[in-house]
Amino acid sequence: MAHDIALLPGDGIGVEVVDAATPLLERAAETHDFEVETTRYEWGSDRFLDEGSLFPDDAMDRLADHDAILHGAMGDPRVPDYVTSIEGPIAIRQAFDLYVNYRPVRLHDAGNTPLKGYGRNDVDIAWFRENSEGEYVDIGGRLDRGGGSELAIQTSVYTEKGVERVVRAAFEAALDREGYLTNVTKSNALRYGPVFWDEVVEDVAESYPSVTLEHLLVDAASMDFVLRPDEFDVVVGPNLFGDILTDLTAAVTGGLGLAPSANVNPDGDAPGLYEPVHGSAPDIAGEGVANPIAAVLSGALMFEDLGEESAADALRDAVAAHLADDGAPHTPDLGGDGTTANVVADLRSRL
Ligand code: ATP
Ligand code: MG
Repeated sequence: MAHDIALLPGDGIGVEVVDAATPLLERAAETHDFEVETTRYEWGSDRFLDEGSLFPDDAMDRLADHDAILHGAMGDPRVPDYVTSIEGPIAIRQAFDLYVNYRPVRLHDAGNTPLKGYGRNDVDIAWFRENSEGEYVDIGGRLDRGGGSELAIQTSVYTEKGVERVVRAAFEAALDREGYLTNVTKSNALRYGPVFWDEVVEDVAESYPSVTLEHLLVDAASMDFVLRPDEFDVVVGPNLFGDILTDLTAAVTGGLGLAPSANVNPDGDAPGLYEPVHGSAPDIAGEGVANPIAAVLSGALMFEDLGEESAADALRDAVAAHLADDGAPHTPDLGGDGTTANVVADLRSRL
């Protein structure tokens, strides 16, 4: 059985971490008796600067032919950030209607959290960020009325179908986990979108009587993820809140260098897009010190969705053992002085 993977390294450390993770994924496949075939697409900011677009016109058709996509990141100081986001990974999420952005985080070692009093596996949160609508529908505009009275409008859109499907996915995950779901909302100050969102959550909850549902306002949630991160299980939230708070939960469990994500459509057969939560990190690009673990764990999520559960576990076990071993070479974001290559070699020896 061979899985056909599109590699879309992108820019900056996106390229470094995909190049680091790929041989480890191939190694895990080899030891679990399946093959991965990879096709590499050199699309990103250099292409944008040369040809005016990140992707060629037939990019989505070509990606559609693969079983899954492993992405690094897009972003470059020479290109506006909204181009590399909206015309990059967001365009892929939209094209394939990848409405679930699954972002699990786990504390692997007490030394990885900036918080006191938490040890191995004490924090284990599965985030379900709505990924297809909301604040990121790209609807709005600017109007310059002259005389210093320019205005800008940015609209967010939530549909019943759009909310229902991601909320259902989160409830399903809660059934498989601790049976506890937190809904992050802001229905006290925003009367249309968030109030509607909460109503849909309540409707879906009726089908899941065994799941305990908690509603948290996003401001309180930001505090609680720092003060009691160990009490969360599954979390669901709108696109923008999910974007912001998953950086926070990543930080609590060791930082962006460890945080993977899966953009998926559980209903169809569109390829999932697997990528680290982090961006292209221009500040450390080219130095060979990017932490490849978020990319490796994104590969583990990809294997899991491709039905290769034991290879996914092998990758996760290697990462957990690496993180728990104070003698192993860790990258500078984790306080070590190891390089990307050192981490790859260490993980390889554990596979
Ligand atoms: P982008 O615009 O592409 O999102 P960014 O400037 O927001 O890029 P991120 O990539 O999100 O940057 O990174 C934010 C910070 O976290 C940077 O200081 C970066 O060095 C650090 N960081 C992110 N990913 C990693 C990683 N894999 N290893 C080490 N440090 C990282
Ligand atoms: Mg960023």
